[in-house]
Amino acid sequence: MTVNVGVIGVGMIGQDHVRRLTTVLPGSAVVAVTDSDAERARSVAVSVPGGAAPRVFATGQELIADEAVHAVVVASWGPTHEEYVLACVAAGKPVFCEKPLATTQDACLRILDAEAAHGRRLVQVGFMRRFDPAYRALKETVDGGAIGAPLLFHSVHRNPSVPPHYTADMAISDTAVHDIDVARWLLDDEVAAATVLKPRRNSRAGALQDPLVVLLEMQGGAVVDVEVSVTIAYGYDIRGEVVGETGTAALAEGNTVVVKREGAFSGRVPPGWRERFLRAYDLEFEAWLAAAAQGSAAGPSAWDGYAATAVSDAALEALRTGTRQTVSMRERPGLYTPPGQGRATT
Ligand code: NAP
Repeated sequence: MTVNVGVIGVGMIGQDHVRRLTTVLPGSAVVAVTDSDAERARSVAVSVPGGAAPRVFATGQELIADEAVHAVVVASWGPTHEEYVLACVAAGKPVFCEKPLATTQDACLRILDAEAAHGRRLVQVGFMRRFDPAYRALKETVDGGAIGAPLLFHSVHRNPSVPPHYTADMAISDTAVHDIDVARWLLDDEVAAATVLKPRRNSRAGALQDPLVVLLEMQGGAVVDVEVSVTIAYGYDIRGEVVGETGTAALAEGNTVVVKREGAFSGRVPPGWRERFLRAYDLEFEAWLAAAAQGSAAGPSAWDGYAATAVSDAALEALRTGTRQTVSMRERPGLYTPPGQGRATT
């Protein structure tokens, strides 16, 4: 079955997802696009290879309502996500929503309520690390018991630089939010409290407080430390190591070749997130399309989107106040897999 997809927001990542859906993955066709920049929507539509160009809609709401659209990708600006995800749920259409699910916890809760009222999952949130082959191997190792019960997770998120619009809060809400999600997923646990440390600043950081160390205390007692460095120059470097009772498991370096010459050895550090997570984006869409073809959703859920926003809010408050902040969350609805029962899934 071909899933006819409508894409809302065809900026940087939206265009990449259109490319993925039309030239990388089988089983889908992009039949509709919209963007607040109508000219951008038109130029993306005419650039889509293959048969008929996607229809260009004036608004996301009209795109969602169109009968030819089976499933929707929301890749517009974060504050617009709630409106479109709620419209998709109301229309009973599977929706892939780029992170964040929504920018406030109240908005996330409205989506949870709508999906619960619908009775089955329709929403997948774009936490692509869960599909990255290296993170999957790490999770399989931890879940398989090879290192004993996990006690600590060290996570490192390094960016060479960030664009001018990047604000101080984005180090947590935009960058560390991926580590927050992956910590919950790897450890099958929720975050109980957050503290943020401010090390000596990188002289390249301008007005930003960079680096940051985000400490997360999990409900089950494990502790997570996340280093966020966004002006570190040398490359995009993602690391993760779980310390268990009897061993450790870490993401391997991604190089397929290591060069040794003149008394030294070297490998490549990717320049950015696109290259590092290229395969993960493809795999997350493969899973989304398979579920959407069945009228449902897989992978990171609306609950995961809500939890990420709740923890990110607590960490932002910890950053502002310099104090430890507890994370309070609503009880998990039955629709969403509880921690400890999701080990074999994404
Ligand atoms: P972007 O380049 O600014 O693209 C967003 C596009 O959406 C722009 O063309 C924008 O138009 C359009 N837009 C804004 N409001 C809209 C609305 N109400 N209806 C229709 N279109 C609208 O941003 P981006 O970097 O692609 O990011 C988009 C989303 O993806 C964000 O939520 C971001 O956090 C997420 N993202 C996730 C990852 C990941 O690793 N998972 C990576 C990158 C981005 P204007 O330019 O006219 O405003």
